[in-house]
Amino acid sequence: MKRVIVLGGGIGGTTVANRIRKGLEAEVGAGQVQIQVVDQEGIHAYQPGYLMVVFDKMRPEETKRDESSLLHRSIQLVRAEIERVDAAANKVVLKGGKELPYDVLVVATGSVIHPEAVPGFTEGAHSFYDLANAQKLRAAIQQFTGGKILIAVAGMPYKCPVAPLEVTFMLDDYLRTRGVRDKTEIHYAYPIPKVFGIDTVAQPMQRLMSERDISTHLLFNVDRIDPVGKTVKGVEGETIPFDLLIAIPPHRGSDVVGASGLGDKGNWVPTDRFTLKVEGKENIYVLG
Ligand SMILES: Cc1cc2nc3c(=O)[nH]c(=O)nc-3n(C[C@H](O)[C@H](O)[C@H](O)COP(=O)(O)OP(=O)(O)OC[C@H]3O[C@@H](n4cnc5c(N)ncnc54)[C@H](O)[C@@H]3O)c2cc1C
Repeated sequence: MKRVIVLGGGIGGTTVANRIRKGLEAEVGAGQVQIQVVDQEGIHAYQPGYLMVVFDKMRPEETKRDESSLLHRSIQLVRAEIERVDAAANKVVLKGGKELPYDVLVVATGSVIHPEAVPGFTEGAHSFYDLANAQKLRAAIQQFTGGKILIAVAGMPYKCPVAPLEVTFMLDDYLRTRGVRDKTEIHYAYPIPKVFGIDTVAQPMQRLMSERDISTHLLFNVDRIDPVGKTVKGVEGETIPFDLLIAIPPHRGSDVVGASGLGDKGNWVPTDRFTLKVEGKENIYVLG
């Protein structure tokens, strides 16, 4: 029997496990192929929902589902923390020492946010990249009565590139509905010389920002946040004051990647963009 192991039960791992099952339906049915998904929580977190939680368009509990309800019944869910991959021995090592042998491995352990990597972030910035902080931001904007709101990106790369644009326009809309937009300045700071990386998106977004009186600060890479003085200093020299700061935290690849020696110093995995095969490994793929 051949064993396929998928590490991580997020959007990437769940989708690929179900698709492999579908593609190998006969082999799985005949017991020639076994598919396992390993996830520490066994709970699927729908992260795009965090933005909806901020604006009360989704309840926090609606962002979670039991992972087993999303996987085909023939796929085995292993609820365990992955410690590392032993690529030389074709084994996944779980916390506690248990080992799972594989023939083909898919790494889909996602990325991890590291707010502590930017001085002042934890004390001075709101964010919506995890559920707890999305709920705190929801409370903060509900109490907001006017002032200067700054949206900034505190590290590249980050997941969901459009999220800063989404939160900016949703905020503009929300404040108008609450009747406090005319007492609020919205400032959008972005690390590159345009409001988004893709021109066909950046151009209409820039136009909409002008129409909605949203100020932009381009080529602004966050260096540090002063939570007391309420300013953000950019690497390029500009300093922007704020009353409420919404920032995208820095990201890294998962610790599993680092512990397995599969990635670079940021735990990002070099991969063939067409096959998603990990460079130098014949039977390991990575996605997310
Ligand atoms: C606010 C927000 C809005 C977004 N909006 C959109 C959107 O509109 N459209 C879009 O396409 N994307 C959006 N995204 C991005 C999207 O959510 C991510 O790209 C996606 O979740 C990545 O999927 P993944 O499977 O790679 O990782 P994840 O979904 O992060 O899943 C990784 C899984 O691996 C597990 N894991 C990690 N380490 C271990 C370990 N050591 N042991 C066991 N299990 C482990 C985790 O528990 C988790 O279940 C958004 C993200 C955020 C935060």
